[in-house]
Amino acid sequence: MKKSLRFQLSLSSALPVLLTVFLISLSAHFFIQRQFDQYITEQQAAHAASLADSVASQYDGGWNLDYLHGFGMYALSDGYIMKVYDAGGAAVWDAENHDMTLCHGVMDSILSRMRQQKPGTNVDLVDTSFDLTWDAGTAIGRVAIQYYTPNYAHESDFGFLRALDQLLIYAAIASLVIAVLIGLWMARRIARPITAATRAAREISMGHYDTRIPAHTGSTEMKTLTSAVNHMAAELESQEERKRRMTTDVAHELRTPIANISSYLEAMAEGVWEPTPERLTECHQEARRIAGIVGQLETLHRSEEHESAVHIASVPVRQVCESAAASFARALEEKNQQCDIAGEDFILQTDKDKLRQILNNLLSNAIKYSPEGTAITINLSHTEKKARIRVRDQGIGIPEAEQALIFERFYRTDSSRSRQSGGAGIGLAIVKALTEQLGGQITVESRENEGSAFTVSLPLQ
Ligand code: ADP
Repeated sequence: MKKSLRFQLSLSSALPVLLTVFLISLSAHFFIQRQFDQYITEQQAAHAASLADSVASQYDGGWNLDYLHGFGMYALSDGYIMKVYDAGGAAVWDAENHDMTLCHGVMDSILSRMRQQKPGTNVDLVDTSFDLTWDAGTAIGRVAIQYYTPNYAHESDFGFLRALDQLLIYAAIASLVIAVLIGLWMARRIARPITAATRAAREISMGHYDTRIPAHTGSTEMKTLTSAVNHMAAELESQEERKRRMTTDVAHELRTPIANISSYLEAMAEGVWEPTPERLTECHQEARRIAGIVGQLETLHRSEEHESAVHIASVPVRQVCESAAASFARALEEKNQQCDIAGEDFILQTDKDKLRQILNNLLSNAIKYSPEGTAITINLSHTEKKARIRVRDQGIGIPEAEQALIFERFYRTDSSRSRQSGGAGIGLAIVKALTEQLGGQITVESRENEGSAFTVSLPLQ
């Protein structure tokens, strides 16, 4: 059977209250009954003693039999069977001798009334006697008294106990109703954000990534759950957006070289153009451009998705920079540019190949976007925790408004678009993804027509 969280929460708060109220009411019922029986028993014992006192007080050197008879009958009507003996032990007045039937009748009616009105009560027959003295201690005899106890003399005694029981029942019902209402309210409060989170998760699973759970004032755990679901939705949304943009960007970037190749080949196939080595070389270059873009995309994908493993080793930074600069020797020479490495040398615990790829992309850009005869500097420095590698050029610079955008894939500034040498706009996206994979950050400072400086900060250990 499926049970809702609200039902389970309500039940789990109402059940303990029900059990507690039931146990308290039951023990209160028995406690009150016992205390009241005890109170009645004590009252009866005191009454028996006062009867004995009354008998002694009427003694005046001899027994007044009329008085004893009247007094004994009055005591009998209250359920006390009295026998008075003189100092010699002879019976002076005996209720049973006087009227045995009446005695039994009175006692039986007490017993049956108690059993009927208060079933389960342990009614005992008390047989007690008091020595009687007169005038400063002269023994004048003894009075024996028999009575049933506890004996509720008045109807209101039973009524009092019944009223207390009723009060307990009402209090129990009232607390149960309050517990159920509070339980329902609490359960609603707890279950509402969970229901909202479930609904949102279902919407998200159906591809509605813009779904968010509204912020609410719930428990800390609920706030954590809400922000986790919202974070997941935002992450999925941005992934979806990235995928969508990637598809259109890739299509856009590949369209031109593919269109060029196909128009060249078509013209050559139809005999409009001669397949000269120059035209075939151009086709080849376009094909290589496509292959280059695809290769860069693969690298970017692997580093963005953290698919390529990171191999940490002790890397002599200066040596890696020198070897990167050396690999660009020809390009530098063609543009009459110079690459200097300045600053201190140090060992960095990082992935050498990834660091090399970062340097390659930054150097390639520095060369591409700088005029002939300029200088490029790689500056190395470090603090206790961070290593800094700065690649500075004297190139065309990047407009301030575009500095934040150049790390996005396929983004190219207007000035670089107009240049033949420009790439597809993936290089810096790869640099950013790799730097982050190595636990670092990349920043740029640049002024138009003055130059740019890209700083890669990496953790030293
Ligand atoms: P691309 O392959 O086009 O160079 P990148 O992602 O490496 O792609 O760079 C993105 C854009 O950032 C470039 O098109 C260019 O506009 C700008 N850019 C990158 N490096 C520099 C630089 N050193 N100087 C000036 N502009 C740069």
